[in-house]
Amino acid sequence: MDLKNYITDVPDFPKEGIVFKDISPLLVNARATNYAVELLAKGLYDIKATKVIGIESRGFLFGSLLAQKLGLGFVPVRKPGKLPGKILSESYDLEYGTDSLEIKAESIAEGDLVIVHDDVLATGGTAAAACRLVEHCGGKVVQCNFLMELDFLNGRKKLSSYSLHSLLHY
Ligand code: 5GP
Repeated sequence: MDLKNYITDVPDFPKEGIVFKDISPLLVNARATNYAVELLAKGLYDIKATKVIGIESRGFLFGSLLAQKLGLGFVPVRKPGKLPGKILSESYDLEYGTDSLEIKAESIAEGDLVIVHDDVLATGGTAAAACRLVEHCGGKVVQCNFLMELDFLNGRKKLSSYSLHSLLHY
């Protein structure tokens, strides 16, 4: 099964000049989704990770399926203002301006071994901020895990200190 057949290019979305990778056809197909999760989990059973983090919002989809597959707990990393209680925050640069991500401080314990998942690795700023959040909580990132990597944006350069796996390359 070629998973690329279940990902469509949407030109000029969300703005002109951007070719958006739409994972809706993958999600609507249970067999393809299951196959993708199996491949994402490959090689992770031996790592002895303790938690999976998913980045809002599309990182929640395969992140929680991956956590279930590995028998691990899932932790959401969210956009500002969505999480209750004590939170930690990390900013990162966008093309214009900055954005930030938040995590519940108690959700990662000292010594946790964490897989950081998102659907797409583009410039790498989002995933790098999520990794810093894990580290601020006292956890260790054991793998950055993506469904797709946009190779031409060289996002893996920002994540060079981590082990990194992307299922599909564009
Ligand atoms: P980065 O910080 O690596 O530049 O951007 C990664 C974030 O942007 C991810 O959270 C991802 O969901 C989103 N993203 C960027 N480009 C695309 C795309 O073409 N398709 C989808 N589905 N998400 C994208």
